[in-house]
Amino acid sequence: MTANATRVLVLNSGSSSVKYQLLDMADGARLAVGLVERIGEETSRLAHTPLATGGAKREREQPIADHEAALRAVAGELAADGLGLDSPELAAIGHRVVHGGKKFTEPTVITDEVTAEIERLIPVAPLHNPANITGIRVAQALRPDLPQVAVFDTAFHTTMPEAAARYAIDVETADAHRIRRYGFHGTSHAYVSRETAKLLGKDPSEVNVIVLHLGNGASASAVKGGRCVDTSMGLTPLEGLVMGTRSGDIDPAVISHLARNAGMSIDEIDSLLNKKSGLIGLCGDNDMREIRRRIDAGDERAALAFDIYVHRLKKYIGAYYAVLGKVDAVAFTAGVGENAAPVREAAVAGLEELGLAVDADLNAVRGDEARLISPEYARVAVAVVPTDEELEIATQTYALVSA
Ligand code: ADP
Repeated sequence: MTANATRVLVLNSGSSSVKYQLLDMADGARLAVGLVERIGEETSRLAHTPLATGGAKREREQPIADHEAALRAVAGELAADGLGLDSPELAAIGHRVVHGGKKFTEPTVITDEVTAEIERLIPVAPLHNPANITGIRVAQALRPDLPQVAVFDTAFHTTMPEAAARYAIDVETADAHRIRRYGFHGTSHAYVSRETAKLLGKDPSEVNVIVLHLGNGASASAVKGGRCVDTSMGLTPLEGLVMGTRSGDIDPAVISHLARNAGMSIDEIDSLLNKKSGLIGLCGDNDMREIRRRIDAGDERAALAFDIYVHRLKKYIGAYYAVLGKVDAVAFTAGVGENAAPVREAAVAGLEELGLAVDADLNAVRGDEARLISPEYARVAVAVVPTDEELEIATQTYALVSA
C-alpha cells in the first residue's frame, strides 16, 4: 500500500443489488455513492452520485446480467470521475458479509480460506452469503493486488455469553447444525453504541446502552461496556422485533401447525414469515410513513399494526434493561428509529419508573446529528443516533490494512 492510499471502496452485495460507497479515510469524506438494482433483469438500474466532484446523480436503466457486469459498470462510473479502481489512492475494498458464524469475531483480510469458510456458512445464510461471495470474487478479479476485507454483520455479537447465544434445544442437534443465536446488524450496533457513549461524553467501556436498530429489518441489542451481551436476531434475521415484512418472535409451533393444518410447504412458511408478515402482513404497508398517514386518517388496521410493533419494542427494552441491570442510554437508529418520532414516544411511554422518558419538543426535532431526546431530569438518556454502516465498514477496513 502506498503512503497516500487512503481510499476505501465499501461494497454491500445483495442477491440482486450492489450498494457501494467510496470514502477517503484521511478525512472520512464520501467521494461517491451508488446502487445497482435488479441485476439479472432487463430493467437493471444504476444510480451513481459523484460527491467528490459535486456532480449530479446519474441514473441509467440498462440490462446488467450479473454481479461482474454490475461491478464493471460501477468501476466505469467511478473512472469517469477520476476515481477509478486502478487509482493508487485506493487502499482496500471492504465487503459487508452478513454471516461470519462463530469463527469471525473481527474484520478479516480475505484469503481463499476465508472465502471457503464464508461458503461453509451458506446453510445458515442462504440468501446473503452467496451474494457476498460473488461480490468478493468479482472485486478480486478486478483488483487482484488490492487487500479485500470482510466485515461481518455477526462479529459484534460474538461476545454474547452462551446463556444468551444458545437456544434451549438438544445440544447435539444444535451443534451438528450450527444452530445458535448469531445476531445481525452488528456493524450498526457497534457504531451506534460507540457514538452514543461519545454523545454522553463517556468512553464506551463506561456505559451500558440498549440499541434499537429499526429499519425495514429491525433488531435490538444490549451493550455492556462496549461489548454486546444480547441481541434480538438469532440464527437468522427473522427472530426478535416486528419488522417491515418479518414476523420476529412467534411460537415455533406455528410452523408445524401451518404444515399440518394449512398444507403449507416449508418454503411457503419461510416466505410467509420473512416476506408476508410483520407490518406488511398486519396492515398491508411496511413503510412507517404510510402507516402513520393511515393512522391519522383513522385506519384501525394500521393503528393495530403500530401497536403490535411498539408493544414488542417495549418488551425488548424491558428485557434488556433486566439483562444489563443498569442502563445509561437507549439509542434509536435506522430509518424508523431516526425518523419516526411517534414510535420513539410510544416505545418509551410509561417507563418513567425505569428512569426513561422522552421530551416531546426534543423528540419532534428533525436532523442528521446524534442528539438527546430525554428531559434533563431523566436517569436514562434517550437518544437518536444516526447509523452509518458504510463509514464503520470503511473505518474497520482501513484500520486493518494500514496497521
Ligand atoms: P433498511 O433496513 O432497508 O436499510 P432503513 O434503515 O433505510 O432500511 O429504513 C427504511 C424504513 O424506514 C422504511 O421502510 C420506513 O418504514 C422508515 N422510514 C424512513 N423514513 C421515514 C420517515 N421520515 N418517517 C418514518 N419512517 C421512515
